[in-house]
Amino acid sequence: MSEAKNSFDLFVIGGGPGGYTAAAEAAKRGLSVGLAEDTELGGTCLNRGCIPTKTLMHTSEHLRKMRSGVPGIIGASSLKCDMQALQARRAEVSAKLAGDVAGLMKKSRVTVFRGSAKITGPGSAVVTGADGDIEINAENILIATGLVPVMPPIPGTELPQVMTSDEFIRFDKIPEELVILGGGVIGVEFATVFNGLGSHVTIIEGADRILGALDKEFSQSLKMIFKKRGVDILSSSRVSEFQKDGDRVRCLYTESLKDGSRDGEIAADAVLVAVGRKPRPLSDIVDPGFEAGIETDEKGFIKVDEHFLTGQDHIYAIGDITGGIQLAHVASAQAENLAAFLAGDEPPVDLSTVPVCVYSEPEIAFCGMTPDEAKAAGIDAGTGKYTMLANGKSFLSGQDRGFMKYVFEKETGRILGAQLMCANAVDMIAQFVEAVDNGLTRRDLRKVIHPHPSYNEGMTELLKM
Ligand SMILES: Cc1cc2nc3c(=O)[nH]c(=O)nc-3n(C[C@H](O)[C@H](O)[C@H](O)COP(=O)(O)OP(=O)(O)OC[C@H]3O[C@@H](n4cnc5c(N)ncnc54)[C@H](O)[C@@H]3O)c2cc1C
Repeated sequence: MSEAKNSFDLFVIGGGPGGYTAAAEAAKRGLSVGLAEDTELGGTCLNRGCIPTKTLMHTSEHLRKMRSGVPGIIGASSLKCDMQALQARRAEVSAKLAGDVAGLMKKSRVTVFRGSAKITGPGSAVVTGADGDIEINAENILIATGLVPVMPPIPGTELPQVMTSDEFIRFDKIPEELVILGGGVIGVEFATVFNGLGSHVTIIEGADRILGALDKEFSQSLKMIFKKRGVDILSSSRVSEFQKDGDRVRCLYTESLKDGSRDGEIAADAVLVAVGRKPRPLSDIVDPGFEAGIETDEKGFIKVDEHFLTGQDHIYAIGDITGGIQLAHVASAQAENLAAFLAGDEPPVDLSTVPVCVYSEPEIAFCGMTPDEAKAAGIDAGTGKYTMLANGKSFLSGQDRGFMKYVFEKETGRILGAQLMCANAVDMIAQFVEAVDNGLTRRDLRKVIHPHPSYNEGMTELLKM
């Protein structure tokens, strides 16, 4: 174990869920660990991503439900959101959880450096912060630096009303007219939040449907729900320019139609650009003078092997920076396995089945194979589908249309995957992840008694199919 000052068994660059989990787990396994963070501990997840969006979502969901009518409650239709109070709550939640991460680092005896770290050579790095440069020596270095939002080269993106999620998450007004560029997971979540808070939302999406990377049934169902709630979706559409229009911004776009195209414009009070996230340049993390041999793909994501090793001995990378599924629980699961690997232990987590979640309303969650993927893999697969309108708890709580689907191998009954779109889908998917990971069959799952009334009962009905 390294004991000299600023000399560690593991030096972690980035204090997000990947970095701080790796640091804590490695320390727990007896390694000496240092960690550098250039903004806030907790990374994107706690400060600009998962947690702040769900804090806004929590209020938005309540407001939407109350305004649209809860049986027996009167006078709720005029309820409004105090956005400044909500933003204060968002900041409070992030600060509390980031403080917990600082506490975890302290308890784990991880030395935290505040500043920007750069790898300068094999086993060496420098952290540049308020106190100048600090030299670090380390047996192993971990890059867990995450991603930053993409701002496309569209004229007018410098206007103050045009924001990425990093700025928009702190926006303390409810725009009357909100335009969201990008109908991916982040765009859909913000559309759900601000529609619930009272904005009129238009999503402008380049592809022919929102949530284009997901099962078609998810996008079709959500499109119908959005339509019912007054969210407009312009698919196959591209914004060409943002123009200043007094305090507002005019979004000029072209929509591709079957028989040509149509130009249009929308005047918005705010624009959220949510068209993807990208790595920082590698030269921000690795001194260009050090030929580290770290390989990146064409988009700048760092390539790693099954042990998260980059092209350079003793330099590892995990989390969003490695591409793949960009979710906090993936980063922290990889972190646990990496820490175990460095300590010579068995990997504690099975990384093969990832629950992917979209916090729309209703929630979307899926794992494992879709029917098409099973077919493409040459598996003779069966499927089942249950419509949640028939589920007692969904009906009594006034949920929107929703469903549960699953895929199984016909011969053995082995569960291969599931796709849920319903209340509590994000919590319920865990049972299917467990089933896929452990090779459980329909019969194994069918044995489980689910409480009544519960959304989970939908699973019992689904498995009868
Ligand atoms: C709006 C939004 C909502 C999201 N919602 C969810 C969700 O609900 N569920 C979910 O699972 N995922 C969600 N995500 C994704 C999730 O936030 C990321 O997958 C996760 O944070 C990735 O963790 P990470 O450790 O790889 O990187 P990050 O969390 O991005 O942490 C990297 C950290 O490294 C720091 N850093 C970078 N370079 C340096 C350097 N040179 N020196 C020191 N520090 C450096 C960065 O400032 C950052 O703090 C969301 C993302 C966004 C943007």
